[in-house]
Amino acid sequence: MNKLSEGKVQVYTGNGKGKTTAALGLMLRAAGAGMDIYFGQFMKTGDTSEAEALRRFLGHAVTMEQYGSGGELFGPDRERDTACARAGYEKARAALVSGRYDLVVLDEILVAEHLGLLAVADLLRLMDERPEHTELVLTGRWAAEQVMQRADLVTEMGEVKHYFHAGVPARTGIEM
Ligand code: ATP
Ligand code: MG
Repeated sequence: MNKLSEGKVQVYTGNGKGKTTAALGLMLRAAGAGMDIYFGQFMKTGDTSEAEALRRFLGHAVTMEQYGSGGELFGPDRERDTACARAGYEKARAALVSGRYDLVVLDEILVAEHLGLLAVADLLRLMDERPEHTELVLTGRWAAEQVMQRADLVTEMGEVKHYFHAGVPARTGIEM
C-alpha cells in the first residue's frame, strides 16, 4: 500500500557537507514508517559504509544500485562514464515509474548532469514522470536552475568551513 498520498520533489545541493547524509537520514526515517525505498547512486561504486549499513540494517526496506564506472571521478574515460550514467538513469527511471517505491533517492544525479553525463531534460523528465505517491530526492552539488525551479523543496548546504580544505580526505564512517 502506498504510504504517501502526495509525494514531493526534494533537492539537496550546495558546497557544504550534508547532502548525501541528509538523504540517508530521510531514508532511515522512511524505513521506520514502513516505506519501500530505492537508492540509486550516480558515479559511485564500491563498498561505502552507507552501502554496508543499508544492506545490513535496512535490507528489507531499501533496494540499492550504484551506477559508477569504477574509474576515478573526473577520469579520462568520458565515454565510459557517460554510458554508465545513461544506463543508471534508465534503471533509476524504471524504478521511479514502476510505482513500487514510496521514496526514490538519486544520489549525485545533480553532479552527473552538471558534468554533462546526463541532460537537464533527463532530470525534468523524471520529475514529470514521478508517480503521485512517490517522494523523489535528488542530491549533489551544482543543481541546475531549471531543476530547482521545478522542485517542491530545495535545501542548499552552505559551506562555512570544511576540513577538506585543510587536507583532510574523506574518512570511512564519516564521509564514506
Ligand atoms: P556527505 O556525504 O558527507 O553528506 P555531501 O554529500 O554533502 O557529503 P559531496 O558533494 O558528495 O558531499 O562530497 C563528497 C566528498 O567531496 C566529501 O567527502 C569531501 O571529501 C569532498 N569535498 C568536500 N568539500 C569539498 C569542496 N569544497 N571541494 C571539493 N571536494 C570537497
Ligand atoms: Mg554526496
